[in-house]
Amino acid sequence: MIEKLNTLEEEARALEPDLEQRIGLTAKSIQFAQEYLNDLPDKKAFVQSDEKGRKLLEHPFTEEPAELADLLSLVRSEVNHAGLNPPSGGHLGYIPGGGIYTSALGDYLAAVTNRYAGVFFSSPGAVRMENMCIRWMCRMVGYPETSAGNLTSGGSIANMIALATARDSAGLRSGEYDRTVIYTTRQVHHSAIKGLRFTGLGDATVRTIAMDRRYRMKPDELQSQIERDRKEGLLPFLIIASAGTTDLGAVDPLQEIADLAEQYRLWLHVDAAYGGFFLLTDRGRELMAGIGRAHSVTIDPHKGLFLPYGLGAVLVKDGQQLYDSQHMAASYMQDTLRATDELSPADLSPELSKHFRGLRMWLPLQLHGIRPFRASLREKLLLTRYFYDEIRKIDGIETGPEPELTVMFFRYLPESGDANAFNERLVREIQEDGRIFLSSTRIDGTFYIRLAVLGVRTHREHIERTLEIVREKIDLVKGH
Ligand SMILES: *Cc1c(COP(=O)(O)O)cnc(C)c1O
Repeated sequence: MIEKLNTLEEEARALEPDLEQRIGLTAKSIQFAQEYLNDLPDKKAFVQSDEKGRKLLEHPFTEEPAELADLLSLVRSEVNHAGLNPPSGGHLGYIPGGGIYTSALGDYLAAVTNRYAGVFFSSPGAVRMENMCIRWMCRMVGYPETSAGNLTSGGSIANMIALATARDSAGLRSGEYDRTVIYTTRQVHHSAIKGLRFTGLGDATVRTIAMDRRYRMKPDELQSQIERDRKEGLLPFLIIASAGTTDLGAVDPLQEIADLAEQYRLWLHVDAAYGGFFLLTDRGRELMAGIGRAHSVTIDPHKGLFLPYGLGAVLVKDGQQLYDSQHMAASYMQDTLRATDELSPADLSPELSKHFRGLRMWLPLQLHGIRPFRASLREKLLLTRYFYDEIRKIDGIETGPEPELTVMFFRYLPESGDANAFNERLVREIQEDGRIFLSSTRIDGTFYIRLAVLGVRTHREHIERTLEIVREKIDLVKGH
């Protein structure tokens, strides 16, 4: 037995590189990362390629080890080449974020130390750090000290947790789901609807309330719909408002909606996954006034705080409601009940073991201070406004409403022919060029090109370049 153990240990030790090996591996990884960042300004924001990482499949896992250098070069060619390049300043589609470097360092350290961030007993420090991040965001939305929240992997899961909490707080039973009514608009993010399905509320009725010219929910329409539903004996239950719709950056009128939520005793969830961090700016605070009256809020640090993907948050005004909805006891967890200074993330979400997410947010906020985040968000607001003003100077361009935050849409109206076909062609040309990336959307059947400014590396030069490319591609499509 001893002999067998010795042989196994020797083989298994390969998983624990020694100092010298670690230094070697780390140096190669750092060099890879630094080259990536150095080359970034000259890299395309989008690369169309037939390769699509297929060579990865030629390297199946085997019993034998490979060389890090070879693997990194595979990552370079097969992963970092084709497709969208989110860290690029030219990424102006969907909702960019970018990923700040110092957060990556937090991730590295979190993974190396591998603190168990799910329960306070296991890592009081990691949990305190996560809760500090939560409390900072709670204060930002205007929540009291009795609020609570959870760092999730993203906004979709945050929405799901909020919806489950709303359901449980209302004491809704499955037999009532088909009489239950949920109010939102057609611009709601699809993850909220998915979240309804996930929480069993897929059978509930979803009313999409009419919007004003700026694609914001109309409170008077909301009120008359609630009244109608009550008269019919249905159970109005929940309003899902958006603070920055993904498609258009529109902020629903939160004060008026909160008034109605109070009047009719409905749960108000505000999806601020995209827009939430604009609360760090005067403009955002003005637009989102009333957000603190919501029962729950979703906010995504991997969007508005420019962190790398993998960090969203759910905030619940009455922390007890979140705890009651999410916590569950188990005999093998009994030791963990001894230390209770802080709420444990595992009691506030469906997750138990989880990545130590607090460090990737705490480190950059401490290291840089809040000021540069605020400045960057103000810069993005202004850049969007600048683009809006400049693109309107191009003959034939029609834009949507003035951007409230950092998303806007436009299209070119050709003198003859189908406008939708022209703009589809136009966005395809822009994407094939790849120096910058714009995405598109359809609003009431009309095809529009969207610009979203939230990349941490997006500055004036990228906006100027975008204007230039749009002009160039309009001429190209017109010429055909
Ligand atoms: C991005 C987004 C989501 C989804 O968040 P993920 O982090 O992508 O899961 C939800 N709601 C809104 C408004 C968003 O912009």
